[in-house]
Formats: sequence, structure tokens, C-alpha cells
Amino acid sequence: MALNRALIFLGPPGAGKGTQAKRIAERYQVPHLSTGDMFRDAVACGTELGLVAKPIMERGDLVPDPIVMGMVEERLCRPDCSGGVVLDGFPRTLEQAQRLEPILERCGLGKPWVIDIHVDDDVLVRRLSGRWTCSVGGEIYNVYDAPPKNAGVCDFDGGKLIQRLDDRPEVVKERLRAYHKQTEPLIEYYRRQGLLETVDGSASVERVSSAIARVIERAQGRDGHL
Ligand code: AMP
Repeated sequence: MALNRALIFLGPPGAGKGTQAKRIAERYQVPHLSTGDMFRDAVACGTELGLVAKPIMERGDLVPDPIVMGMVEERLCRPDCSGGVVLDGFPRTLEQAQRLEPILERCGLGKPWVIDIHVDDDVLVRRLSGRWTCSVGGEIYNVYDAPPKNAGVCDFDGGKLIQRLDDRPEVVKERLRAYHKQTEPLIEYYRRQGLLETVDGSASVERVSSAIARVIERAQGRDGHL
């Protein structure tokens, strides 16, 4: 199965973009490009990029556009993205969305398909503040809704579960504020271009996955496979 497109997941923090993006990337055998993961790796490795991003992320703000664009462009130009790519957490501002367009054209990926995962804020707060991630394999749990079999330990590889610093309640509030102000306008931006479909992200992971699969099939039927 070929994707041959950039699939953009929009949605607030905690909507399930990461979980769904991983599944789709596996299904179509294309890279899963999460800018949040890339920044977290940079912070963990102590690179120059990581040193810049760290305090911004800890506040719940967005990293400035030029920094994000440099990182994303370098990644999208690599040959493994030529058959399509799943973008998770990017673009997050109008400027990022506009600057992405010529990059996708150059990579031969054309217009993106955009899926907005909609979830209300009160559900998001519960999801984010309950989220713990495996420090080894990145598996995601929720202490309320999808707990591991043994507290604090990953079911798959026994890795220690850690809470992201930016999932603390006061930072969650700031991240939601940044989302509503800077990222939500992208919904209208892509809707006007006829590129956007919305799915209800409050349903179970399986149901959301099925809804996303249907959106992609419809888009492929409509636009072809390139
Ligand atoms: P995420 O895991 O996608 O929620 O991202 C975690 C943090 O990384 C965000 O709160 C931002 O500080 C930063 N970040 C990730 N992606 C972007 C982006 N596209 N633009 C600006 N900042 C970003």
C-alpha cells in the first residue's frame, strides 16, 4: 500500500496524534516525523538545538518557526520520505504551513492530506496529566484510561515509565493556550483548500484509527495515488 503524500495530523496536545500517526506510518511503511520527538531527542542529546528548545518546551511555548523549519526541511529532503510521510505536531503555525508547501512540491509529495483530530479541552487535560511514556521504546500509557500491567513499568520491554515535564498541569494549560491561539487557525486554512477532514478523537484508539483509515481511502479514491 502506497501513501505517496504527506499526511498532516492537526489537533491539540493530547488528541492522540502521536498514537495514530505511528499506526498510519507503520501501515503505509513511511516515516513518522514528530517534531516534538525530534526536539526531545535534541534535548536528551544536549545538542545546540536541544539547548535552545529546552526552556521553550518546559514553558509550553512553541519553538520559533525558523528553527522548526530548518529541522523539518532537512528531514523531509531525505530519500526515505519520497514515498510519503506522516507529520505529527507539524505544522503548528500559519507560517510553518505556508513554508511547508514548496518543500512538499520539491519532494514530489504535492498537496498534503490533513486530518484534524478533535477533542474537547476537559478530556485533554485528563489525558495529558495521566500520560506516561516508556523511556526505552516510547510506548504511551495513561494511568487513568490505559494503565500498564505493573505501575511504572512498560508491558513490552520492562522500560521505566516517565512523565514528560510538559505534561505537568500548569504547562498543559499553557500548551492548550498556544494551540488555540497559534495552531487552531490552520483548521480553517486547510479547510478552505478542501484538504481537511475532521475525526472525533474522543472515541477509542481503534475507532479513531478506523475513522482515519476511511478518510485516507476516500482521499485516495478522490485524488488518486499520484
Ligand atoms: P509535542 O510533543 O508535539 O506536543 O511537542 C512538544 C513541544 O515541542 C511543544 O510544546 C513545542 O514546544 C515543541 N514543538 C513541537 N513541534 C513544534 C512545532 N511544529 N512548532 C513549534 N514548536 C514545536
